[in-house]
Amino acid sequence: MNHSSSNKKPKKTLSWSNTRITLLEYCERKYFLNYYTFALKQKYPDLWSEALVLKWLKSIEMRVGEKSHFLLSDYLHALKKWEITEEKIEELKNNMRIEMKADFDYSRERDYSDREDFFGKFWLSEHFYQEDADSLLQPAIDKVCGNLDRFIASPRNEKVQDYFSWAKFVYVEHPRTPDFESMKVDVSRIWLRDVSVMAWPDFGVTFSDTDFLILDRKSGKEEVLDNSVSDQLKVYALKMLLKKWLTSLNWIKIEAYEVYLDSMNSYGWILKQEDIDWIIEKIKHDVEEQKQLLVDQDPYKNQPVDLMMFRKTTSDKKCEHCTFRDVCKKLD
Ligand code: SF4
Repeated sequence: MNHSSSNKKPKKTLSWSNTRITLLEYCERKYFLNYYTFALKQKYPDLWSEALVLKWLKSIEMRVGEKSHFLLSDYLHALKKWEITEEKIEELKNNMRIEMKADFDYSRERDYSDREDFFGKFWLSEHFYQEDADSLLQPAIDKVCGNLDRFIASPRNEKVQDYFSWAKFVYVEHPRTPDFESMKVDVSRIWLRDVSVMAWPDFGVTFSDTDFLILDRKSGKEEVLDNSVSDQLKVYALKMLLKKWLTSLNWIKIEAYEVYLDSMNSYGWILKQEDIDWIIEKIKHDVEEQKQLLVDQDPYKNQPVDLMMFRKTTSDKKCEHCTFRDVCKKLD
């Protein structure tokens, strides 16, 4: 049976994304706990419900990254509508301060015994693991607002305003309400079956039918890529090509950069054909690796092999702040 011939693939089909592969390379057990939590249900019902909770945890650092994305996106959407004034910027930052404070209080005051009410809610891993996190809140808020200030003070801000005034189309993502359908990459053209590939950039500009720019904001540690383009950006570029039913750049120009909010340094370049060829092969290779951890290596069924086949990292450093560390220990 050709499963890929159906119009709508079921949710359980194996998926590939840069984030997912990064997690697999980080620790196979963490990958299992995050993407195959359901497989614990029968054998370890208590650990299953705890692991579901842990899936939603974020560290305060992760929260800073997420909220920086939200705030930048709020700003860019207002800029796109030409609504930006000094007062508007202050209003956006104030709303974010209120939002982060409310989230923090909510997370701190939760009664973790009410498991029914757990799923899909916001929690800080610091609170779950009963660490004293109060002193972390204000610096986190300052960091998020500082990221917006740095962006506004940078030449990138002027460039963006410029794009809004004359480019054919400017895309600004809505990170608060992700549209998972539009994140999908149509990979039938590169002969991948029964696999969903997900990717969507933060910001994209269409200058003409053959000239594009992609920007991805980063709030984490700066990775200097030597003027080459990261895998994440290559996937975005591939997605743009596949939308045009192409896998070759030919006359198409795609420029792509990662912009680090801490320093406003950007890394990237104009994509070359070898970048596109490389990422196609990488996705295919990664999917083969992912399939090794599935029953019958079947991406359509997407059932994991036994938990013990998922290797734990040997790095204590990685485990130290892992949100799953509580469940992981109990599974041993
Ligand atoms: S605690 Fe360590 S071994 Fe366990 S899932 Fe996390 S990173 Fe992997």
